[in-house]
Amino acid sequence: APSKIDITHLPSTNCPDNESLLDPSDKDHLLHRSFIEPPALVERAEGVNLFLSDGRKIIDACAGAAVALIGHGNKEVHQAIVNQLQKVSYVHTQSYTTQSAEDLANLILRGSPHGLEKAFFVGSGSEAVESALKLARQYYFEKNEPERLHIVSRRQGYHGNTMTTMSISGNLARKVPFEGFSYPHTSQVSPAFAYRYMQEGETEVEYTARLLQELDDEFLRVGPHKVMAFIAEPVAGSGIGSVTPPTGYLAGVRRLCDKYGILLIFDEIMCGVGRTGTFFAFEQEGDAVPDIMTIAKGLGGGYAPISGVLVHKRIVDVLRHGSKAFNHGHTYQAHPTSCAAALAVQKIVVRDGLIARCAAMGKILESMLRTELRDCWSVGDIRGRGLFWSVEFVKNKQTKETFEPSIHFGGRVQQAAFEKGVALYPCGGTVDGKKGDHLMIAPPFIITEEELRTVCNVLREAVESQQRLFS
Ligand code: PMP
Repeated sequence: APSKIDITHLPSTNCPDNESLLDPSDKDHLLHRSFIEPPALVERAEGVNLFLSDGRKIIDACAGAAVALIGHGNKEVHQAIVNQLQKVSYVHTQSYTTQSAEDLANLILRGSPHGLEKAFFVGSGSEAVESALKLARQYYFEKNEPERLHIVSRRQGYHGNTMTTMSISGNLARKVPFEGFSYPHTSQVSPAFAYRYMQEGETEVEYTARLLQELDDEFLRVGPHKVMAFIAEPVAGSGIGSVTPPTGYLAGVRRLCDKYGILLIFDEIMCGVGRTGTFFAFEQEGDAVPDIMTIAKGLGGGYAPISGVLVHKRIVDVLRHGSKAFNHGHTYQAHPTSCAAALAVQKIVVRDGLIARCAAMGKILESMLRTELRDCWSVGDIRGRGLFWSVEFVKNKQTKETFEPSIHFGGRVQQAAFEKGVALYPCGGTVDGKKGDHLMIAPPFIITEEELRTVCNVLREAVESQQRLFS
C-alpha cells in the first residue's frame, strides 16, 4: 500500500486529506497532445526496449524522437546524475558555474572543431534555436548593422514550437491555430529535397545550382543588408524525414552567406551528435561550416533535457571585444544535472565508439530497408544517412502522388507497427501543402543487427497490412 504523505506542511489544496491525494480515480489532470487517445503508459525502459503498463514490450526504433542514442536505463548515466545531485543540484549561471557544465563544453568542443569555440546550454531544441537567433541579432547589433533582422529558412524545415522558431518553420499543420502569432521578418525558400523537387532530366549539379540561385534571389529580394541569417537542418529531420542535401548544396549556401555577410545557422538538433555517422552532420558536406549551430536530442540522450548552441570564434570575438557579454539567459541554463547526464552519455559514446557503430549499423539498416520494402507499392522513397532513415509513402510510386491526408496512411502504418511491437516516428511535414506520409527509423546506436531485422520485418508487415486496405 502507498505510504501516507504528510500534508500538514503543505499549503492548502483542494485535497482535504491524504487519501484524496492518492486517489487513483482522480487521474485525468495531465494535458496530453490528443484528447482522443491517451498515450501508452511506459513503466520501464531498458536498452532499446520500452515496457508498457499493459505488459507489452516495444522496440524503440526511433529512440523517442531520435533522442535515446545510447538506449534506455544506462546505469553509468544514472550514477553520474546521482553523483551530481549529491554535489550540486542547482546554481544560477549568472553567478556560478559547475564542473559538469565546463567539462561538457570542453568535451564537445575540444580543439575548437571547425573554429567552433563556445557552447551555451539550455533545455530544449526550441530554446537553443531562439538563443542562436538572439545571438545572431546581438552580433549584428554590436557590429552596428541593426537593420539585419530578416531570417531566411526553408519550407518544410522544422526549428521548434516557440513563437520565433515556429515562424521560421515550414510545418504548416503546427501553425494553423497560430496565424498572426509570429515573427514578421522571415521568408522561406525551397527545401533541398531531390526526391520531390528535382525535375525530370535535371542533373544533381543543375538542381543544386537552381536551389542556390533561388536563395541568392531571395537574399537580393529582401536586401542582403537586411538579412540576419539563413537557417537550415543539414539533414532535414522531423518535417520531411531524413532528407540529405544534394552534393555541393550546403557548401554553396556557405559561399552565398559569405558573399553578403549573412550568418549561416545549422540546426542539428535532430541530425547532430553522431546520428548521421559523424558527430556533426555538416561534416559530410565539404566546406560547409556554420557560424552558429544548435544540437539537442542526442546530447543528453534523453536522460535529462539539454540542448546546446555552438558558436564560431568569429562571432564570439565580436561579443568578447564588444559588450563583453551575451545578453540572454535562462534560469535552467547549463543545469548541473543535465550537464552531468550529457557528459556521462558523451563519454560512453566516445569510449564505446558508438558513432562509428552508428555509421556501420546504418549501412546494414539501409540494406535491410531496401530489401524488405522492395515490393511495397506504397513505398515511394527510402532515404537517410547513419541511423537516421525515413520511408515516404505514396499512393502512386510513378507519379509520387500522396495519399489523401484524411487516410493518414503513415499514421496507420505507424499504428500497425506499434501493435506488432515496434515504435516508429511520424514526421508531420507537408508536401505541396498536403500532409505527407513519412515514418522515421532512428534507433539507439546500441541496436543489434537482429533487432534491426525485427524492426524491418515488422515495418514491411505493417505496410502490407495497410496496402491491402487501400489497393
Ligand atoms: N529543431 C529541430 C531540427 C528539431 O528536430 C526539433 C525537434 N523535433 C526542434 C528544433 C525543436 O526542439 P524541441 O522540441 O526540443 O523544442
